[in-house]
Amino acid sequence: MSKFFVEKYSGLVPYTPGEQPRDGQYIKLNTNESPFAPAQSVQQAAARASSMLNLYSDPESHDITAAIAARYGVRTSEVLVTNGSDEALNFAFMAFADEKRPLIFPDISYGFYPVFAELNRIPYRQIPLKEDFTIDVEDYLGLNKTIVIANPNAPTGLCLPAAAIEQILRANPEGLVIIDEAYVDFGGESVVPLISKYDNLLVVQTFSKSRSLAGARLGYAIGSAALIADLNTIKYSTNPYNVNRMTAQVGCAVLAEDEYYADSCKAIIKTREYTKAALRRLGLELLDSRTNFLFVRDKEMSGEALYLELRRRGILVRHFNKARISDYVRVTIGTQAQMEIFIDEISKMRGATV
Ligand SMILES: *Cc1c(COP(=O)(O)O)cnc(C)c1O
Repeated sequence: MSKFFVEKYSGLVPYTPGEQPRDGQYIKLNTNESPFAPAQSVQQAAARASSMLNLYSDPESHDITAAIAARYGVRTSEVLVTNGSDEALNFAFMAFADEKRPLIFPDISYGFYPVFAELNRIPYRQIPLKEDFTIDVEDYLGLNKTIVIANPNAPTGLCLPAAAIEQILRANPEGLVIIDEAYVDFGGESVVPLISKYDNLLVVQTFSKSRSLAGARLGYAIGSAALIADLNTIKYSTNPYNVNRMTAQVGCAVLAEDEYYADSCKAIIKTREYTKAALRRLGLELLDSRTNFLFVRDKEMSGEALYLELRRRGILVRHFNKARISDYVRVTIGTQAQMEIFIDEISKMRGATV
């Protein structure tokens, strides 16, 4: 730490992103990226936009905002696009949480929530998941604080039905409920249709996972026009050009290729179910994922040992050194061929055959 670093941030423990090794030697199943390249038309859109990089991007991000609004059947005034959904979450925490409206989220969830809370000096309380890692909806009724729930949750992969989220919305009329739907396209139930009914609902989604665009950084929030106006106040006070020209154009091209991305989600789901069955046959324990990853435990090995042994064999997965989940690793669903290699390595480790 330099002697110039301000005191208020000196204790900040930043988020640790998954490893991004540069040598290309690994099968990367550690950061929940899509194994599929963007559609051809998307790659061409990036090339077209690149010739205009001398000009600032549209601060209103009009075209991509309109395309997202059309895709979800909402108004453009009900959508804010952001530099990845992480930015939407940070803006939402800044706009809607403080000492009077502390944050509430599950003890096991996306690791960025406590970091954004600390960064913005927002008090927060973490509610323990049940023993089986499910969320107890009862814990979230009548709080009237700012609630954040990833649904499906990460890194567990477990999902609440939309009716349970609606119960939480109804029981917290004075508290904003932020639903992070980063993984919803892999089998979750979206609550976007509820935004017209509940003024205390903000839904956050991303192009990073199901739309093969992690490297472009495109996310968005959907909620009432009043909530979006507040988020815009934060955006225009932080970075008016938060979505760059190439990303905006690429996002529009993605939305014109719905079938390509629906097919790639279907392929990932099919490979997920295949991988699940194979791992169960090999005696591993896993949760019922509605995402593009599996949360896996080998009862004969610690999570860290499993992570290290897979790494030695050329496969990267994610291990969280955290109470309650340190026995598990999170395994992103790659291509069918990658997952067959993964299963093969696990079966070699266990001295068994599938
Ligand atoms: C990946 C992820 C995000 C953020 O992804 P971006 O790339 O910033 O859009 C948000 N929430 C959860 C739960 C995630 O896993």
